Amino acid sequence: MKVYKFGGASVKDANGVRNIASIISREEGRLFVIVSAMGKTTNALEHLLDSFYDEQRGEALTRLQEIVDFHNNILAALWGHQALPERVARFYMELEEIIATAKPDMRPYEVWYDRIVSYGELISTAIVSEYLATADIPNCWIDMRECFVTSARHKDANVDLEKSAARLRPLVDKSQSGVYVGQGFIGATEDGTPTTIGREGSDYSAAATGYILDAESVTIWKDVRGILNGDPKIFDDVELIPEMSYLDAIELAYSGAQIIHPKTIKPLQNKEIPLYVRCFLDPALPGSVIKANAARRCDIPILIVKPAQVLLTIRARDFSFILEERFTEIFGILDEFMVKVNLIQSSAVDLDLCINRTRHLDELIAKLDAQGFFARYNSDMELITVRGYTHALLEKFGNAPDIYLMQRTRRTLQVIRKKEE
Ligand code: ASP
Ligand code: MG
Repeated sequence: MKVYKFGGASVKDANGVRNIASIISREEGRLFVIVSAMGKTTNALEHLLDSFYDEQRGEALTRLQEIVDFHNNILAALWGHQALPERVARFYMELEEIIATAKPDMRPYEVWYDRIVSYGELISTAIVSEYLATADIPNCWIDMRECFVTSARHKDANVDLEKSAARLRPLVDKSQSGVYVGQGFIGATEDGTPTTIGREGSDYSAAATGYILDAESVTIWKDVRGILNGDPKIFDDVELIPEMSYLDAIELAYSGAQIIHPKTIKPLQNKEIPLYVRCFLDPALPGSVIKANAARRCDIPILIVKPAQVLLTIRARDFSFILEERFTEIFGILDEFMVKVNLIQSSAVDLDLCINRTRHLDELIAKLDAQGFFARYNSDMELITVRGYTHALLEKFGNAPDIYLMQRTRRTLQVIRKKEE
């Protein structure tokens, strides 16, 4: 069994769907295909959720209509008429029913998030599965909410690999299909409440599926040639890294490289399953591979920009020493609001944290305040990481006038700066 993962960009229109069908048709062995929501659907669903949660029902329904139109256009382009596969129609209806009738205050925001945003993947896989069938690729559509058992940490759930294996393995063994199509990004708690595992989490879904099914490899199909040492949309002269170790890949992903989700590597490393990164625009290209015993250490500098950051500075009102006395307390509060910390720096009385932007920022600050901390912040920041920096890169990124905070080790430079307009 091999696992293929196709992200939103690969299925953003009808040609994308046709293209992945053609890639899948070339594979002769058994295949488990993980697919993300189409194009920018997850963002669109997040907006819809915000309207719904703010009780702007009319606006939410308009946003739903836009999402439906987007998918219907793809359907029409695929089949040349207004075809609506039964499963897709059902998902539209379920979404509409939630928005038209449910009361937002019945559940916390994160629980609604998972219930609503997971439809992006449900709809996309229903379309892909249907298209594959009509393109002579018989396949089995899998509802990952019934296979991936996760924690109840909504919007950022963890997959329980052993419990999920007990559900996914028998299903795959029983159906003996050649091709399976399942959603990235989603799962459910043991009692069946839908969950999501964090933005861009489909890579992890693919890795977890590979782990559970003892896949011979996992391939992530992207719109770039393979793993590059920087985002080609941001930097000129990027280079391809043909081979990389699991360890280098984890470091890279953790610093915010868009190429793979940070959680992805661990399950693969545990079973030494190679991870290929290949280009869906040109499947003939060899791409990159992450594996055990990679030939050489990655020796070209790697540049990563993590957007949507907030620089938070916390000080104890009584001037107690931050690091020794109050660290655990602060991190407990951060965890309560599910804040992701990307960089830490402390002085005697101040703690600077670079965190992902969060809708709970005001509540977080209020809570810190109630516990005797004074917190200030700068929003619209970005975190730049340069691994294996050269003198020239140090000059370029370490000397800019707009730096708010900088950290440097022998190998890595990290800079927080205001996002360029
Ligand atoms: N559709 C989700 C997102 O855009 C998950 C993923 O693409 O991996 O974040
Ligand atoms: Mg996506």
